[in-house]
Amino acid sequence: MSTFSLPSDTEEIAKRVTTAAMDFSGKTVLMTGGRGFLGRHFMDTFNYLNEHILPEPMKLVVLDNFISSGKEGKNIPKFPHVEFIEHNVINKFEYSGKIDYIIHAAGIASPFYYRAHPIETLEVAITGTKNMLQLAEANNARFTFFSSSEVYGDPDAKHVPMQESYRGNVSSMGPRACYDESKRVGETLCYIFHENNGVHTNVIRPFNVYGPGMQETDYRVLPNFASRIKSGMPLHVYGSGGQTRTFCYLTDAIVGFLLVFLRGVAGEVYNIGNPKPEITILELVKRVETVLGKKVNHEVIEYPDSYPADEPLRRAPDIRKAKIQLEYTPEVSLEDGLKRFLDWSDKTYTGDA
Ligand code: UDP
Repeated sequence: MSTFSLPSDTEEIAKRVTTAAMDFSGKTVLMTGGRGFLGRHFMDTFNYLNEHILPEPMKLVVLDNFISSGKEGKNIPKFPHVEFIEHNVINKFEYSGKIDYIIHAAGIASPFYYRAHPIETLEVAITGTKNMLQLAEANNARFTFFSSSEVYGDPDAKHVPMQESYRGNVSSMGPRACYDESKRVGETLCYIFHENNGVHTNVIRPFNVYGPGMQETDYRVLPNFASRIKSGMPLHVYGSGGQTRTFCYLTDAIVGFLLVFLRGVAGEVYNIGNPKPEITILELVKRVETVLGKKVNHEVIEYPDSYPADEPLRRAPDIRKAKIQLEYTPEVSLEDGLKRFLDWSDKTYTGDA
């Protein structure tokens, strides 16, 4: 058993997508960023599908350069039907076999890391996406790009929850621009390859996914909270603590992503997240206390230098499009998701992030 996922989560994901996943039978999927937080869960899910559900196994080709997948990305058990290639997607990639699906999940998604690696962040979402789109075109493969809910930037209240048609309020200059703007260009590349070259492209905008498998040194809010709980230190709430997010538990997110890979309408973009509840970070502290059944100290602090402070003050998805077109429904409540995550982090984290 791996230490980055709960077997019951993997089973839940596979069972929720069984019908759609039949399309993977006998197919080859190439995934970039395959050793990251999401990539490792896709590997687990595909392995489960191969062992229990698909009539013919699917093959997975995984690319990663380990820039942000950390030690967790290196210590991966070997799975049958998985070929791993160490490769940076900003360089061209050629593959001798036929590829049916390309999932471009490589990227530097945690604000702490993209603040530290702005050029790499830009390049993976722009040059990396172009290289993978060309590979999709050559293979006549379905292509999915992992964009971000950050493309909406800091929205005006009347656009919250955000629909896919909202154009966003993003700064081209500032500490988050390397991420937000490069994801926007990546989306534009998908649009061009779909419109002009006939590639079957889809874009996913995930909203704050969390769950087992997040590195303790990920530095996003829930791994930070979990690590500090482990060490008995007070939780740090940045800024005013009044900024909002919605949190989507891993299984709900992976189910949504798989439905996009398998059922996404060509050329379309989908929000994937859990629209409820939209909560402030101070409220998140209270929810954590409820789940743990005890008081947890916290301090409201200035943004640390390592964190890109120019952040969205509200974020929540409108997921009606994914509901209607993909029959996507999140099922895991915040309380249940936090419980599964905090139980796992308590067993896995060391408390020295
Ligand atoms: N945040 C916090 N304490 C932390 C890390 C993050 O209060 O230790 C806040 C951060 O200011 C933001 C929210 O939690 O409002 C989510 O931040 P995260 O880095 O997880 O992801 P983002 O939504 O900014 O991409």
